[in-house]
Amino acid sequence: MFIDSHCHINFPELAARMPEILARMAENKVTHALCVSVDLPDFPQVLALAEQHPHIFASVGVHPDYEDTPEPSVQQLVALADHPKVVAIGETGLDYYRLEGDLEWQRERFRTHIRASRETRKPLIIHTRSASADTIRIMREEGAGLDAGGVAGVMHCFTESLEVAQAAMEQGFYISFSGIVTFKSARELQEVAKAVPLERMLIETDSPYLAPVPFRGKMNEPGYVAHVGEFIANLKGVSLREVAERTSANFFHLFQTARA
Ligand SMILES: [Zn+2]
Ligand SMILES: [Zn+2]
Repeated sequence: MFIDSHCHINFPELAARMPEILARMAENKVTHALCVSVDLPDFPQVLALAEQHPHIFASVGVHPDYEDTPEPSVQQLVALADHPKVVAIGETGLDYYRLEGDLEWQRERFRTHIRASRETRKPLIIHTRSASADTIRIMREEGAGLDAGGVAGVMHCFTESLEVAQAAMEQGFYISFSGIVTFKSARELQEVAKAVPLERMLIETDSPYLAPVPFRGKMNEPGYVAHVGEFIANLKGVSLREVAERTSANFFHLFQTARA
């Protein structure tokens, strides 16, 4: 069994095909998926999916790339997270690749999410792109991570260096690999995936984006996470079963309020 630790099946292009999406998950033995919130206006749809389907979980948060959207407060996030199917806070983080200019608001928004995670004891889903130094610094300053009394989380769709992975793992975080790791151009990332121990690894699709080989360029969906698992198994020279079992156990260990 596999678990897609990060997808956006509430996005219209996937939501419109829900029966097909769920059937393909079953076909590929993808037993669960975490549907990740990107803004507050869409959160009710994310939660509705999790309420309708026992094997779909939800998170609550506002993505760092969303500029013109209601800014969440700590209190708001804490209140919305108070639901048994909401297992995480995010996605949050920093993205200096997609946006330019004064991004202090992005850093403030990130701090808000870390505070909500500490208050709710629900793990963080962190998105970081071209901003790893500030991401790690703010995580330390705000006490994300186990040593600081926080609850850790996951660095999702990881594309940074091994040093960044290690800094996050030292704070108790998991590293999640998406279909990007299967791309021919991703040699460096493949080395990082080899070095990150299975005990600290999750797998994801980030669908509808970033379909893994052999579906690269097509619309992605949770069922395809099996191909990420297969690639990781070959890369590490371990059995597919070991990757499936380990990453699934990691998922439930991290998101403790999620139940199989
Ligand atoms: Zn992301
Ligand atoms: Zn995402």
